[in-house]
Amino acid sequence: MRHNFGAGPCILPQEVFKQASQAVLDFKDGLSILEISHRTPEFEAVVEETTRLVKELLNVPSGYSVLLLQGGASLQFAMVPMNLLPEGKTASYLETGVWANKAIKEVPNFGKVNIIASSKDSNFTFVPKDYSIPEDSAYFHCTSNNTIYGTEMFSFPDTKVPVVCDMSSDIMSREIDVSKFDLIYAGAQKNIGPAGLTIVIVKDEILGKSGRKIPAMLDYSVHIEGGSMYNTPPVFSIYTAMLNLRWLKSKGGVAEIEKENKAKAYALYTEIDRNPLFKGTCAVEDRSRMNICFVMENPELEKPFLKFAEENGIEGLKGHRSVGGFRASMYNALPITSVHTLVELMQIFAEKHQ
Ligand code: PMP
Repeated sequence: MRHNFGAGPCILPQEVFKQASQAVLDFKDGLSILEISHRTPEFEAVVEETTRLVKELLNVPSGYSVLLLQGGASLQFAMVPMNLLPEGKTASYLETGVWANKAIKEVPNFGKVNIIASSKDSNFTFVPKDYSIPEDSAYFHCTSNNTIYGTEMFSFPDTKVPVVCDMSSDIMSREIDVSKFDLIYAGAQKNIGPAGLTIVIVKDEILGKSGRKIPAMLDYSVHIEGGSMYNTPPVFSIYTAMLNLRWLKSKGGVAEIEKENKAKAYALYTEIDRNPLFKGTCAVEDRSRMNICFVMENPELEKPFLKFAEENGIEGLKGHRSVGGFRASMYNALPITSVHTLVELMQIFAEKHQ
């Protein structure tokens, strides 16, 4: 058995894979999900259910729209300032990693950017907390989970400034108060579904104020108007996301999965802190529950441990090249038994190498 600790695209539940493959063969009257028109009532029902499940699972209040878009979170790096930042105005950003940085780099195409706090000098091993958001900011942008470095934001600012958050790698993994945010975006390929779909949750009242002419495909209002069907949507990604969100609902929703995610993270961090061969790379209070980054006290043992882990069924454990060591990504569908297997392997390896 393989245990998939990959950072994304990543593990989804086996039953979702089975149902999705069934729909490739026969979605409706012998026709594949890949060949039917997105304008059929059956597929319109899929878009409707997917949107409804996002709203239900995250408790999205009224006054917000949920959009099913394309282009990945990376397109949102540009769409956010294009739609929300009037020319000459400033947007405030928290720099907590490579993805935040890529978002920051798009802003000067549309207005001014102010990096109000950064943890770059310590290779993004913590989330800055002492910052204030200038009141005249067009919006404040943060990244709730820093996939590469393994840090996560556990508190968000109370501010009158609109809050925009990239939740690509922890959306649906824990309860969030959507009313604290004005725009949330996430590439689907972690806890939502396969790559190709991007979820945007936007408070309707913040739109239409940029004073800029926006190309239709990049305009949130156009997609709201079109019910996420302005153009041909990523049909298969949406369908599979719907199956996965149904799975999440059947497990008791986000509150239940959050308990499991806490237990999984606790099990691995406990071993990292206990086992003399390993050490965590991030500030303890900012440790992510989705991406757990760790290294070895003796870097020479890293390659042998990775080989040992791979030989014993562990997949996708190698850390990102900018951090090194290991990254265990533990998204919703990863069972706690996979975490226990990894912990056992760390213990066996330590016995051999102490
Ligand atoms: N933001 C975060 C936090 C991510 O983890 C990623 C990808 N792993 C991205 C943005 C980029 O997403 P995409 O590949 O969907 O553009």
